[in-house]
Amino acid sequence: MDALAQIAGVFAMPFYVYQVVEGRKGCPRCRSSFEELQSISAEPLRTCPDCGEEVERVPTAPNVGFSESGLDDRAKAAGFTKLKRIGSGEYERQY
Ligand SMILES: [Zn+2]
Repeated sequence: MDALAQIAGVFAMPFYVYQVVEGRKGCPRCRSSFEELQSISAEPLRTCPDCGEEVERVPTAPNVGFSESGLDDRAKAAGFTKLKRIGSGEYERQY
């Protein structure tokens, strides 16, 4: 495997952010959320590796800011069509 393929392999292994399910006690690790490197095909974690408390994945948007244009880009990438309302009953297709 060459270096580039190795780097591509790393990027194919995303970090998932987990946090203890709201209302659960958890431990310092999962209370403040933690990252877990997992392959895309891996089963999501259900429990904290430290305390075994129930955890859930925190939605994250890597490499994308929280600006509105970022949202648009993500919607576009996901295949959504954005319609802008330009008048009563009229919508302009933006992409
Ligand atoms: Zn924990």
